[in-house]
Amino acid sequence: MDAKLLDILVCPLCKSELLYKKTEQELVCKPCKLAFPVKDGIPVMLEEEARPLTPEER
Ligand SMILES: [Zn+2]
Repeated sequence: MDAKLLDILVCPLCKSELLYKKTEQELVCKPCKLAFPVKDGIPVMLEEEARPLTPEER
């Protein structure tokens, strides 16, 4: 995914910076405990599409 795009991306819920997990292809928001999927290089910044983090990931 484009590093510049990553720079401007924030969590749609809390506006925090996101953590990009390359292997999982996910953008993680720690405050919200959510992981947003990256589909074909496109971040899907929708709460409905996000996955809650497991206790180990928090
Ligand atoms: Zn958030």
